[in-house]
Amino acid sequence: MAKDKREHLMLVCADCGSVNYHTSRSKTTQKLDLKKFCIKERKHTAHKEKKRK
Ligand SMILES: [Zn+2]
Repeated sequence: MAKDKREHLMLVCADCGSVNYHTSRSKTTQKLDLKKFCIKERKHTAHKEKKRK
């Protein structure tokens, strides 16, 4: 099994709760810019990070 040092994250729209992005990052990386385009609402909204297994 390969060692995975990266965190896998989902970015969930804080407004409507839809999962718009899947991303990964190194654990040492600073917080992502969470202002993202929500596909459902077709506008930029705040997104929350949610961990994925
Ligand atoms: Zn949304």
